[in-house]
Amino acid sequence: RKRCIALQPQQHRSMRDFLDEMRAENIREHLRKFTRLPHLAGTKQNLRLAEEIKEEWLEYGLDSVEMVPYDVLLSYPNTTQPNYISIVDHLGNQVFNTSLAEPVPEGYENISDIVPPYNAFSAQGQPVGDLVYVNYGRTEDFSQLEREMKINVTGKIVIVRYGKIFRGNKVKNAAFHGASGVVMFSDPADYCATGVQPYPDGWNLPGGGAQRGNVLNLNGAGDPLTPGYPAKEYTFRYRLEEGVGLPKIPVHPIGYHDAIHLLKNMGGPIPPNNWKGALNVSYRIGPETLHLSHFLSSFPCFRQCMCAPPLLPDRYVILGGHRDAWVFGGIDPVSGAAVVHEIVRSTGRLLRRGWRPRRTIVFASWDAEEFGLLGSTEWAEENAKVLQDRAVVYINADSAIEGMYTLRVDCTPSLHTLVYKVTKQVSSPEVGEEGMSLYESWHKRDNWTDDRDAPRISKLGSGSDFEAYFIRLGIAAGRARYTKDKKTERYSSYPVYHSVYETFEVVDRFYDPSFQRLRAVAQVRGGLIFQLADSQLLPLDASQYADSLTKYAHSIAQLGQKHQDALITYGVSFDSLFSAVENFTTAASSFHERLKTLDRTDPLQVRMANDQLMYLERAFVDPLGLPGRPFYRHVIFAPSIHNKYAGESFPGIYDALFDIEHAANPRRAWEEVRRQISIATFTVHAAAMTLTPPA
Ligand code: GLU
Ligand code: CA
Ligand code: ZN
Ligand code: ZN
Repeated sequence: RKRCIALQPQQHRSMRDFLDEMRAENIREHLRKFTRLPHLAGTKQNLRLAEEIKEEWLEYGLDSVEMVPYDVLLSYPNTTQPNYISIVDHLGNQVFNTSLAEPVPEGYENISDIVPPYNAFSAQGQPVGDLVYVNYGRTEDFSQLEREMKINVTGKIVIVRYGKIFRGNKVKNAAFHGASGVVMFSDPADYCATGVQPYPDGWNLPGGGAQRGNVLNLNGAGDPLTPGYPAKEYTFRYRLEEGVGLPKIPVHPIGYHDAIHLLKNMGGPIPPNNWKGALNVSYRIGPETLHLSHFLSSFPCFRQCMCAPPLLPDRYVILGGHRDAWVFGGIDPVSGAAVVHEIVRSTGRLLRRGWRPRRTIVFASWDAEEFGLLGSTEWAEENAKVLQDRAVVYINADSAIEGMYTLRVDCTPSLHTLVYKVTKQVSSPEVGEEGMSLYESWHKRDNWTDDRDAPRISKLGSGSDFEAYFIRLGIAAGRARYTKDKKTERYSSYPVYHSVYETFEVVDRFYDPSFQRLRAVAQVRGGLIFQLADSQLLPLDASQYADSLTKYAHSIAQLGQKHQDALITYGVSFDSLFSAVENFTTAASSFHERLKTLDRTDPLQVRMANDQLMYLERAFVDPLGLPGRPFYRHVIFAPSIHNKYAGESFPGIYDALFDIEHAANPRRAWEEVRRQISIATFTVHAAAMTLTPPA
């Protein structure tokens, strides 16, 4: 099954065949088939879809496909008492109610089980109170409100616009400041592109559309009731009141037609300019009295399932993406799931012709991503021991497209080199760029100017299924998708995100009519998997990690240097960190030097080098985790505490420095900075040691 000597020309041919085998029209067919019905986690339709995918993966030629069930906490709205928000007059009459559902797009009128817009895991209750507008509900928005405008939201209902950050962080901020409820709305400034029509005539969010989405603050825990352990039948469960990350206040989402009614009568201070959206209202802050919100929500426990082949033989390359969708999931996640399906089909064809990858490829179709990355996290918990010993890499496969401009890649630094190599072997999907590679097209559109002359690659944040693999287990990880032009397109994610308007048609008619962009993403994701699974020496680059560490060390030190006096007073220095990064840089470059003369015919030598490469990412894990976040254990990268979607480098130091000028006890605060610098120093140094010659 495994050969010791790689026949590189042969591998080259297989890779080419593998990429060429992926077809645009197949991806279109997969997308059409998987978006016919809603596939919410925990529903019969989603289980049926899992079974269908399993059958097809077996037909395509995978060795085995397994369904792995977990019992996790999900959250659905009460169908008999729908959620809405009212404006109540002084007699108690409801003078305005927000809509109970989105207008269903043409052709989908007869579909049942379309869940109305709601925020999963919202607390139940009907808070009544004044409404206060707090822009995006970010940390800085609440600080501005309290420190500059002197407005306190205790006992008030907060209204914030969607966008910029993960919605769970908005709710956490509102609750922290004492709010009794949260209304979230989609503002046209954030969910409509200029010159584009609302769906179905274009890809903008219509006024009646609203964004669904969970409002948890799990910090990597997975199922709220079984943190650390797989949610199996035998597993102990915490009581609901003790669950991880569940908000204590009600939250409800609305569209901009409804938001106008809540915002138009607001009094109070004029907002700062950057708090103004694109509605024809003043965006005054309030507080405005006489608003009542009526919220209901429930937490039934449902079974979820997923497919994943068994773990054999002993090095794993994982391609995972979720299957569950809020409604049809045209973009999120099915554009990604359709791409995975085509990659599996192409893999199957190679297998049929006698090709075997050097390492085991694991394809996963996760469930309940929308409810807090639950399926992927529970599977990571169940298989943690094996994964930390044997997993080489995790490539994520959520939505494959969020714009029509160019490629977007977020990944661990050791994958940069491979990403460039693979994208040079993929053709640009853009009309007029025939003969150009995806790399060239991407480079032209998104050059990493301030850093180096290459296409931009960003850090991983969170908000999708790679989290447990990368941030908790320390497995090298990455993601790739097609994206918008950030320079000109201001809206957040994409306009119809998590609404009923995410249909097959929104992709087929607007985002990728030829399906060439999705094909290019399939070839990137597939190409990465192929190279990682089949190269004799793992295509991971420790020197790229060194470069990134150097960059991150400089930027965190720069942040510290803003407090020159305090650095001196409290004896804080970044020197040890810089010296550890230098050690790492030297260790990485001599490691790669040694690889050049490695005896590739000696399987033991090859295995030793590959293990050093595989375990490099693992070396950045601190078993104690970050302060207060035991499941975020990567010392170099963590989701930002202010925005789960964003990645923060040297998060321990960053968080210790945050807002330190307002610290109640500066001595203590600076002591924590020193402690965090020492943890980072130790970890980088320890990682460098794993790269030294094993003998
Ligand atoms: N991707 C989903 C969202 O943005 C879930 C993210 C999460 O729970 O981390 O709503
Ligand atoms: Ca669990
Ligand atoms: Zn998704
Ligand atoms: Zn989603």
